[in-house]
Amino acid sequence: MKKGKKLYEGKAKIIYATNDKNLVIQYFKDDATAFNNQKKTTIEGKGVLNNRISEHILSNLSQIGIKNHLVKRLNMREQIIKLVEIIPIEFIVRNVATGSITKRLGIEDGTVLKEPLIEYCLKDDKLGDPLISEEHIFAFDWASKVEIDKIKKMVLRINDFMIGMFRGVGIKLIDFKLEFGRTKIDGKNDVILADEISPDTCRLWDSITEKKLDKDRFRKDLGDLIPAYTEVAKRLGILHEQSNVSAVNVTKLSSVKRKKK
Ligand code: 5GP
Repeated sequence: MKKGKKLYEGKAKIIYATNDKNLVIQYFKDDATAFNNQKKTTIEGKGVLNNRISEHILSNLSQIGIKNHLVKRLNMREQIIKLVEIIPIEFIVRNVATGSITKRLGIEDGTVLKEPLIEYCLKDDKLGDPLISEEHIFAFDWASKVEIDKIKKMVLRINDFMIGMFRGVGIKLIDFKLEFGRTKIDGKNDVILADEISPDTCRLWDSITEKKLDKDRFRKDLGDLIPAYTEVAKRLGILHEQSNVSAVNVTKLSSVKRKKK
């Protein structure tokens, strides 16, 4: 597989072409952004951890029949993924109210929702990813009814699976964001899960202490983001090192791999 030119650079990832027109390489950066890019920094080792955690979750989802774009992880920072046309909607799933919904609707932080709540946001940084309704999606042809019905089923199945997976390792899945893309499977149009699922895109709280193990550590200036992401990776059985994986260790792992190539 040959790495070609850069096709797209987002806030946390870069997409490169390959010599196969249906496949691209997804590179996980160390950049962290929040509040629509107003807060930015680089956190050494974040990309390595997100690459591993997202690979783990997407492979597990594949095994329960959730089609997704992951083909395989290439190295510490890169994955080969299927090229899809990203649907311009962020699908937010909430099990517990926190974050934007508490401010928007005055709901008390930490309120456990009776059922998972799906929200739609338009993927548009210039507009600040505004909340939209299903009616907006159909009115402006951002996705079809068939696509949204299929995605909603997948979203709820993904939520059920991830709640169980995280509960098993002492973590509460509070909320998360998913993206989907259009592709052709056996000549037929289909929608599959795309992007990443990681502590950058989920809210994860320790089941007992409710310690935040996700990107809120950066958003809220709580510090210790790498130890928190490392804790998630270790609990999921991804990292087996006895020692604490510090930012320095993660960077070392990353550079060892690079030298080998
Ligand atoms: P909220 O709407 O409360 O800010 O976010 C809800 C959930 O979706 C959180 O888990 C958050 O991490 C995720 N999320 C929403 N929008 C984005 C986004 O643009 N980027 C990332 N990485 N996560 C997002």
